[in-house]
Amino acid sequence: MPELPEVEWVARTLRPKLVGRRIVGVETSGKKLRQPVERAKLQKLAVGATVDAVARTGKYLLIELSSGATLVSHLGMTGWYLFARPETAREKHTHVVFTLDSGLELRYTDHRRFGILRIYPTPKVKKSPELSILGADPLEAVFTVEYLAAQLKATRRDVKTFLLDQTRIAGVGNIYACEALFLAGISPRKKTSRVDAAKLHAAVQKVLRAGIANRGTSFSDYVDAEGEAGENQNSLHVYGREGQRCRVCSSVIRRLVQGARSTFYCPKCQR
Ligand SMILES: [Zn+2]
Repeated sequence: MPELPEVEWVARTLRPKLVGRRIVGVETSGKKLRQPVERAKLQKLAVGATVDAVARTGKYLLIELSSGATLVSHLGMTGWYLFARPETAREKHTHVVFTLDSGLELRYTDHRRFGILRIYPTPKVKKSPELSILGADPLEAVFTVEYLAAQLKATRRDVKTFLLDQTRIAGVGNIYACEALFLAGISPRKKTSRVDAAKLHAAVQKVLRAGIANRGTSFSDYVDAEGEAGENQNSLHVYGREGQRCRVCSSVIRRLVQGARSTFYCPKCQR
């Protein structure tokens, strides 16, 4: 499932071929994503508009249009974007196609259809049901040690489960939560009230920045808009490494289940 670094890398690979281009057509498969795709709204607000910017907040892509509307896109579990020439056969599970004035198509493909693609008037985007509930994006200035400390205090849960709560921190998912806790030396089972906010803050930012620098983590589906897989999977310390040796202390990496999700951790490095 794409997390903040993967979505950031998708944004960066979308920009060169998308910003400044005019959308001349939109097609949809008629299949429902997490919600139905609002075809008539897309036609009205996107067709004829120029793409002014591609931004990201949490795991959402925000494609800002000259029509005064913004496309809000979440990749769900298997969503991805791809630029292609119209004559190239469409991939299976292609659900939305934007035709650009450059002659290229921007295709949204989503095998499991947990993604979101909606369009809102730009002034209303932050108040949309998708974005209004999000906590701070951990790479934006609002995500301070004080903010994190207050969020940790406001709940009584395992810190691992806390990190996945998008209403507190927007963009961290299972991979980067496990990696941040390893880097901070914090047990995933530790209660939020006992966590050192400064240590966790630094670790969250560091693993996300490393993930971006490595163009994201590719385990199964994730590729960027150029079709390239990331390389961060080669740098992970704990995620997906159950039974293997810790790279720091040589203990065996363990797995436990928290909130129906697998947590990977080193029993010696994380206390
Ligand atoms: Zn270790």
